[in-house]
Amino acid sequence: MIPRFKPALGLQELKAALTWPQHDDVARFEKAFAAKMGQKHAIAFPYGRTGLMMLLETLGLKDKEIICPAYTCVVVPHAIVFSGNIPVFVDSQEEDYNMNLDLVPEAITEDTGAIIATSIFGYPVDLDKLDMIRQQYPHIPIIQDCAHSFAAEWKGRPVQKEGIAALFGLNISKIITSIFGGMVTTDNDTIAQKLRKLRDSRLASPSLTKSFRRLFYLLAVYPTFWPPLYGLINRLERSGFLGRLVKYYDENSIDMPSDYLEKMTDIEARVGIQQLKKYDIIINTKRHLAELYSRQLHGIKELQLPPIVDGATYSHYVPRVKTRETVLSKALDDGVQLGRLIEYSIPHMSSYAKSKSIKKHADIAEKLSIETINLPIYRNILKSSARITALWKR
Ligand SMILES: *Cc1c(COP(=O)(O)O)cnc(C)c1O
Repeated sequence: MIPRFKPALGLQELKAALTWPQHDDVARFEKAFAAKMGQKHAIAFPYGRTGLMMLLETLGLKDKEIICPAYTCVVVPHAIVFSGNIPVFVDSQEEDYNMNLDLVPEAITEDTGAIIATSIFGYPVDLDKLDMIRQQYPHIPIIQDCAHSFAAEWKGRPVQKEGIAALFGLNISKIITSIFGGMVTTDNDTIAQKLRKLRDSRLASPSLTKSFRRLFYLLAVYPTFWPPLYGLINRLERSGFLGRLVKYYDENSIDMPSDYLEKMTDIEARVGIQQLKKYDIIINTKRHLAELYSRQLHGIKELQLPPIVDGATYSHYVPRVKTRETVLSKALDDGVQLGRLIEYSIPHMSSYAKSKSIKKHADIAEKLSIETINLPIYRNILKSSARITALWKR
């Protein structure tokens, strides 16, 4: 069974997790992370969504409209709501799955508090268009959501530097991981200082229980991705047995994990430090595989291939198909697990559809939520990529 994703976790991460804490583990991770992303400051959080929530509070935003894509991870509007603000959804575009920036000006009102520019699936947000919005509305801060993209570049400009701050996610499905966890980076000294202060006053130190849970979770990840066991787990997942355990969102409610106000653990930080060392190799592999898939799957009628874009980091490789369920289940029969990563358009979810204050433009987002699949795109897949492309070559 070829898994749909696989974290690049090795012996170094295991060793790092099991060493004795050094007290400044989180600070060391922050420093290394900031350096790698070319930013002055990095502030660690238990989840990316906690970081976003506190960033919005740090910017003094309350009862404001926060513009974000309709097609993004649902934790983003959750964080907006938890910060006391209102998400405003803007539809996405077919070309690269990103928010359609041409629609942003008409979503702006006098209550707009911020714009969250996301580089979804590693496709850099169009900074030329974003520059125009910034010139027209210089008082509206732009937050870069780099949870997928990390340091993707638009015409040579790294996206994470093109806003007041940038947000990163570090759970095990992201480009690099610290088990769970998230980061906010910024070049702005005042915001960094305020955000750090808010975090340290509002978040509790991680309990021993949380540290043990994180360690056990990490230890469980290793055997989970061992092929024979992965096959078994997948069968359980398919039968619906694991469904409730692995789903990270609830269609009907806007909520946060129970420990979202407990700081990142030292264990996570030490794993994150090791992962940063692999960052370049991981990105290069993803770029290589995206190009390989593009060449090998070119011309297959059933697949609408994702674009190859300079500077993209390809957290995911996301073609579109018309009959997704059939494609996924046929692939599983051939031992390949394909993903359907964002299988919702947020304004269409019942939790957000119920909410009256939210604007809804999401025709493309809805289409993408139904048609996208994602192919495995990680290091160990290089030798089996032929098995994946063979799914469509019979
Ligand atoms: C993963 C992710 C985040 C942050 O997620 P957390 O699970 O809270 O760390 C933010 N935005 C996007 C687009 C994501 O995919």
